[in-house]
Formats: sequence, C-alpha cells, structure tokens
Amino acid sequence: MTTATPTTATAPSGGVAARAWAGFRQRYDAEPAGRWAAPGRVNLIGEHTDYNEGFVLPFALPLRTVVAAAPRDDERWTVWSELADEPVEFGPAEADEPGRVTGWAAYVAGVVWALRAAGHRVPGARLAVASDVPVGSGLSSSAAVEAAVLAALVELGGLDLPADRWPRLAQRAENDYVGAPTGIMDQSAVIRGRPGHTLFLDCRTEDVEPIPFDLAAAGLAMLVVDSRAPHRHADGEYAARRASCERAARTLGVPALRDVTVADLDAALARLPDEETRRRVRHVVTEDQRVLDTVALLRAGRVRDIGPLLTASHASMRDDFEITVPEVDTAVEAALAAGAYGARMTGGGFGGCVLALVDADRAPAVADAVTAAYAERGFAAPGTLTALPVGGATRLD
Ligand code: ADP
Ligand code: MG
Repeated sequence: MTTATPTTATAPSGGVAARAWAGFRQRYDAEPAGRWAAPGRVNLIGEHTDYNEGFVLPFALPLRTVVAAAPRDDERWTVWSELADEPVEFGPAEADEPGRVTGWAAYVAGVVWALRAAGHRVPGARLAVASDVPVGSGLSSSAAVEAAVLAALVELGGLDLPADRWPRLAQRAENDYVGAPTGIMDQSAVIRGRPGHTLFLDCRTEDVEPIPFDLAAAGLAMLVVDSRAPHRHADGEYAARRASCERAARTLGVPALRDVTVADLDAALARLPDEETRRRVRHVVTEDQRVLDTVALLRAGRVRDIGPLLTASHASMRDDFEITVPEVDTAVEAALAAGAYGARMTGGGFGGCVLALVDADRAPAVADAVTAAYAERGFAAPGTLTALPVGGATRLD
C-alpha cells in the first residue's frame, strides 16, 4: 500500500527488520523475543507553531526504525545500534540520573528513565536498533528510536500503559534525559500515526485527531526531498525565534501567539515594537490559520487543493520567519516549476526536508527536476522518496 524508494542510504543494505534481527544475533549470540518498529514523520503544515501552543499536522512516513529485543534476568539494559560500533550497557543508577548515559544511547536510557520515573517496573533487556530513517534530516529519527524502544519495553515488561500515554513519556525522555527541548509533535506522529491519515494536533490541549489524507485514492503522492543542506546555526536560530515569539506574546498580553487570530492580526502587529517581530508574529498567526484551512480542505476531500497553502507556508517561512536556506528554496521552486501542486520546507528550518504534493505518476519527473536544479546551483545531490502516510509504532513479530 505504501511506496518508499529512499535514495538516502543511512545504513548497510538489507531490510531494516532483517538487519535488526541479524544485529541482535550477532551481538548477543541469542534470538530476540520480538521486533518492534516505529516510523519517521514529516509535518504536512504548521511550522514553529508548536511552542506557540498552536496547530501542527504531521504524518508517519514509510521509513522505519526497528528494535529487536529480549528480556534479561538482571535489571540492566544493553543497547546496540548499527550506527554505532559498540553496544552501551547501563543499569538503574545511570538510567535514574539524566545525563549519565550520553550520545545516541541516551535516547534509549531516556525511555527507561521516563518509564521508571512514572512508576513502572522496566524489565532488563538487550536491544538491537536498525533504522532507515535518516538521522538529523528532520524526519524524526530520534522519536522513532524512542517509540520503538518504548513499544518493546512496555510489551516485554507487560506494563499497563495505554498507547495514548506513550507520546508524553517519549517526549520526557528526549526533553529531560537527553536534554533536547522538543514539543510533542514528533512522538505523537510516530506513535499515533494512522495509514491514509494525517494527525491534527492541538499543541495546547494535546488533542489528536486523525484527518483523512488519502493521497493514493486521489492519484497523488508526497515527494520528500532531503535538502542535504548543512544545518547552519540551527540551534541558535531556533532559540532566537522562540524567544522572539515569547516576547511578542508578553507584549500582546496573551498566554501564547496561538491566542492571536488572523482577524486580530493587524491590531496586534500595530502594538509590536519593530518590523522583525511583526514578521515573526505574522508567520505564526497565518501559519496556524493555514493548518486550520488545510484540515478543512482535507475533511472536504479536497486533497489537491491544499497545494497553495503549502506554498504559502513556504513563502511565510522564507520571508517572515526567515528560516529557509538556498537549498530548500531551490527545491521548492524546482518542484513547483515541474508541476507540483504545492511545496514547502518541513521542519524547524535551516535545512532538512522539502515536501512537494504531486500527481503520483509525476513524482519521478519532479524528483529529477529538483536534482537537476541542485546540480545547476552546485549543491550536493538531494535525497528523494515518495511517501504515503503509514501507521505508528507497532510490534512486528
Ligand atoms: P532527527 O531530526 O533525525 O530526529 P535529532 O537530532 O532529533 O534528529 O536526533 C538524531 C539523534 O537520534 C542521533 O544523533 C542519535 O543520537 C539518535 N538516533 C536516531 N536514530 C538512531 C539510530 N538508528 N541508532 C542510534 N541512535 C539514533
Ligand atoms: Mg528529533
């Protein structure tokens, strides 16, 4: 039902589930008790709205992280990833103190920590991780690891933990153990994703509603272009945008920019001190509205008609929020020129991926056009894949 032709190779060849199994056997000289998988995700629309308590609309991608796991008798955890040479082992002392396990294994220790902090008895386990989700491209490889590990530990331990509570736990692992200040979008998308749907997430209430997004039935596909742009100053710029939004909300006397509507916008802008802050606020307020408009179109079955909203979102990120870079602007322009219905950068900015809504049979031609535009500008070749929305974290076998 899904198609995925990633050209972005991030790990040795072979199916990702087979690699997790083989990795487990090779490292631990034993059979795993099972395999659990969680997908990557993209955000269809709604950028930098999450920390402004607004709306996002992510969906899970047909690229997966797979964890092969088995319980062990003692209360310790050993984890190996094909992206690292050596396994990492830790016990309760390290798991219970954020910062003790560092590097990639912190994402696993963080899940153990979050479960224990919530009062669960986490079974000791051996884990082997394989993944097709490219790391650091904005497709949320981190949440995929967290969700797959969480699914494995919950089931191995027979923990009484319904899946609607998993996103919050995985987010705590990343925020409080790893120390990465992310919102709840990534974990919600990779845990609660549904085939043929996108998830309408209200970042204030944390309500999640699946919205039909049946690209295949409409003869459409989403082309995902990995811009391969180096993340220039992304952390500092993110912090600056966030601080600017929070200052603006204080000036306007609202809890968050989500409380400013498009109808209020002109009056709100007139009360802000400078042109830069006005541009930042205009992005957030109009972006929230574009999410709502996208949801309304999708509910009406008008999938193709969301294209202009995607393109308007990109223009807003480029001109008002100023978070795009030449590589992503080039990908968007080339995709539109090649017939995409709409295109935008997705993710926090300064690189990452571009989405282009295309007729399914035009996807290869649009991908070629983007690749050609990159070559013309002298950029490193982009990665491309064609994606349909898939389901969230699950047990494989
Ligand atoms: P992304 O946008 O891909 O989520 P992040 O910086 O949030 O980027 O997370 C990437 C980090 O997550 C990696 O540097 C690594 O520490 C961890 N990670 C992701 N996938 C894997 C994997 N398959 N094996 C080990 N660690 C992983
Ligand atoms: Mg991440």
